Amino acid sequence: MNCPSCNFEYTYMEDDFYVCSACGFKFKEEENFILDANGNKLVDGDDVITIKDLKVKGSSQPLKQGTKVTNIKIVSGDHNIDCRIQGFGNMSLKSEFVKKA
Ligand SMILES: [Zn+2]
Repeated sequence: MNCPSCNFEYTYMEDDFYVCSACGFKFKEEENFILDANGNKLVDGDDVITIKDLKVKGSSQPLKQGTKVTNIKIVSGDHNIDCRIQGFGNMSLKSEFVKKA
């Protein structure tokens, strides 16, 4: 991981930080996370629960409020959660309609 300050390529770990061998700049690895409806962090592999009935494209059945969704994947975009739900298959959800399980 290159130093974000001087772009030097050699860094080492100290406590929870990366430290640049050239300029001594300390930084943390960017964490890929989003926030759920309650403002809690969600990361890859988390389980969430839907907080309202959600319409599903191509299905006459809504995804019911309270459905547990396991092993989510954080993606970028409007629907920022990729997941697989039994009975529905692969889906994309919005983080504002789920909470951490
Ligand atoms: Zn540096």
